[in-house]
Amino acid sequence: MSTTVDTPPYPLRAFDVEVFRIKDVGPHFRRITFSGAVLERFGVPGPTRDLRIKLLIPAAGQPLAPLGGPDGQLYPGWYQDWLKTEQPGRGFIRSYTVGAIRATAQGREIDVDFVIHRVAEGHGAPASEWAAAAEVGTGAVIIGPEASAITSATRLSETGIRWEPQGASQVLLAGDETAVPAINSILETLPANVGGHAFLEVQDPADFRTISTGSSVRVTWLARQPTDSPRGGLLDAAIRKAVPKAGSSTAPVRDTYAWVAAEAATVKILRRYLVNEAGLDPKRSEFRGYWSLGKAGSGVNGTPVGQEPQVLQS
Ligand SMILES: Cc1cc2nc3c(=O)[nH]c(=O)nc-3n(C[C@H](O)[C@H](O)[C@H](O)COP(=O)(O)OP(=O)(O)OC[C@H]3O[C@@H](n4cnc5c(N)ncnc54)[C@H](O)[C@@H]3O)c2cc1C
Repeated sequence: MSTTVDTPPYPLRAFDVEVFRIKDVGPHFRRITFSGAVLERFGVPGPTRDLRIKLLIPAAGQPLAPLGGPDGQLYPGWYQDWLKTEQPGRGFIRSYTVGAIRATAQGREIDVDFVIHRVAEGHGAPASEWAAAAEVGTGAVIIGPEASAITSATRLSETGIRWEPQGASQVLLAGDETAVPAINSILETLPANVGGHAFLEVQDPADFRTISTGSSVRVTWLARQPTDSPRGGLLDAAIRKAVPKAGSSTAPVRDTYAWVAAEAATVKILRRYLVNEAGLDPKRSEFRGYWSLGKAGSGVNGTPVGQEPQVLQS
């Protein structure tokens, strides 16, 4: 007698979308709204929180090689297969956060807030450059969750969500500009019984925005200007002040759920302080390097700038 083993559906797929609207929402943020009939299939159950998507960016003037099966469905190991694709068809992948999903009479829309950053001459930054040059109607490929493939057995992290406070009533959020969209979305969904603090460090006070939250989390914006202090320095100082070392007379932070995302070196420094000195439980917390200074690629494992394949600089 033979038995069949059901493979669970894979929760990610590639969505062909196009740029529907472009709005600068601060001197360093460009909001790009994507639309497309296929977005009817995009989504997670419940709020998006810090939902991560990946953007597939073509090398300048080159078509992208098709990704995934017919209809864009993906499978375990798709990323390794993508890495094996020859340039220029491979293009580049960078991670972004879903700022908002809206249903409109014309169909569904997704907002993504891109930090527009400049890099030293001679080196590229494909995602920032793509966003800076995008026009309404420009096509794009987004890798994200396929709503119908998500079941009760799917772990949240498989869909791209890392915010899992496990019922904590005290939270600590900290991030640089790349984490502003995620912190904004998380705070929007927090209930009234949740308290704590959120710290956001950006370059320019003109990038501060109003965040609405039903929670009692206190939001503090920090700007590196006009002192032009080093990246992460203001976050570090603010957190040391708000979260004292273990053993002091203030309430312990062991039961606080912390969510920290920023440039990788900043995250390392904040994690070391919060876990080793303030006594935060690392198992109840999420620390994520969203980018690495001097490295190309999202996250902590980028390629040192200058060592990328030639096509990066085209
Ligand atoms: C889960 C996740 C969610 C993210 N969400 C967002 C988001 O919503 N919005 C957003 O803007 N970013 C977000 N990021 C960060 C984004 O993926 C990185 O900043 C990415 O490196 C940008 O790609 P790029 O092609 O522009 O530059 P790269 O080619 O990756 O890097 C080129 C050079 O630019 C530098 N660099 C990269 N990013 C920055 C930056 N922000 N400021 C200054 N220098 C930089 C690098 O150190 C490198 O020297 C997210 C990252 C992760 C992992």
